Amino acid sequence: MIEPKKEYQDALVVLNQYYARLVPALAEDILARKEEFDEFGVAEQIVKKYAPKFRELNAVYTPLRWAAMRKAKPYANERLREDQFRCFGCGGIINQDEQYCRVCGWTWK
Ligand SMILES: [Zn+2]
Repeated sequence: MIEPKKEYQDALVVLNQYYARLVPALAEDILARKEEFDEFGVAEQIVKKYAPKFRELNAVYTPLRWAAMRKAKPYANERLREDQFRCFGCGGIINQDEQYCRVCGWTWK
């Protein structure tokens, strides 16, 4: 069984949870001001509000993910049991009772 560095995994989980909260906030802002997207200039305010957050989040996510995966990259060739799923993020195995991938922190929530 592959055991990646737990501190990197834990940090990825936190970042994934933050990302999962940020996306609905973005959608809520867009829907609340959808009429304003008809005018140039106003829609860009919302885009400018969120784009740096996602860009910066990706900038810190990438090295953490690299570190977490560096010595523990799964090969995705292990046979899955009926109560297991393949992680879309890294190819690792997610057990049915787990909320996120233990290797890379990816979650479907
Ligand atoms: Zn994964």
